[in-house]
Amino acid sequence: MRRVVVTGAAGFLGSTICEHLLAAGDAVVAVDDCSTGRWSNLDHLTGDLTCVEHDVSTGLPVDGPVDAVMHFASAASPPAYLARPLETLAVGSEGTRHALELARRNDARFLLASTSEIYGDPLVHPQPETYWGNVNSVGPRSVYDEAKRFAEAIAMAHHRTFALDVKIVRIFNTYGPRMAPGDGRVITNFLEQALTGRPLTVYGDGSQTRSFCWVDDEVRGILALLASAWNGPMNIGNPGEFTVLECAEIVREITGATAEIVFEPLPTDDPTRRRPDITVARRELGWEPTVDLREGITRLAAWYRTERLG
Ligand code: UDP
Repeated sequence: MRRVVVTGAAGFLGSTICEHLLAAGDAVVAVDDCSTGRWSNLDHLTGDLTCVEHDVSTGLPVDGPVDAVMHFASAASPPAYLARPLETLAVGSEGTRHALELARRNDARFLLASTSEIYGDPLVHPQPETYWGNVNSVGPRSVYDEAKRFAEAIAMAHHRTFALDVKIVRIFNTYGPRMAPGDGRVITNFLEQALTGRPLTVYGDGSQTRSFCWVDDEVRGILALLASAWNGPMNIGNPGEFTVLECAEIVREITGATAEIVFEPLPTDDPTRRRPDITVARRELGWEPTVDLREGITRLAAWYRTERLG
């Protein structure tokens, strides 16, 4: 049994990580300031779970031995981070430094939740870890993109300077139960709209692409990375690539929604395409996603109907 600190534990991804760790018999210290997460996301969990309400950009007060630190605290949906620009920069910079210092004090493994956003609007497709990205450092999205790029830089500096065991997961669009209602992400919006009979809002002409990974596939990959000897960044995502318009049509088809699709303005610097190259994850972890978009949307629509609308 290990004792694992998870920051951002009350969020969508953090709560699913806690679920998998506890199911494997690990002890979990869950840290969150509940700015975008909710403790109720952990209500269904049993096992050795301690909850600490704290903003990690001001410190990380965890006593006792720690075997691994998983740093997932941050607003993650574009509307959420655009509404909290300075907090997002703070948690990516100071928050990451505090999480690294906790790992260093305990000689623990450190895993950073990074993002496909570090590739910006990519000029290389699909994106391998060796691609350096195409990011607008002064645009509105830079508060998230550059915070995560800084987080990667400070994590690797700790690896080089102190030989800290650093893993960086670059997470591509992930979806599943407990995504925050109204978080503004495309799958959340389309499903909520379809199931409540409202028009589906496609931004731009819907030709931009994303690659969507079912949350349990994503977390299985992340925990395999944590258990591995790998240091540095690794893409974990589902390479199945869809235009946003295709995504809207799949949601309509699966939910049987009759509501129309309406077109709204494209947000500033919205990436035109995104697809992970997962050669490294396949080779190093033997990891492969198993749930395709239609299967995932079917599962998530069922969850919404019972948990949110039932
Ligand atoms: N999007 C959309 N309608 C919505 C919400 C999002 O067309 O109601 C688009 C958004 O412009 C982007 C893609 O869907 O091209 C994915 O957006 P999301 O906010 O989920 O995440 P991102 O990949 O941009 O971080």
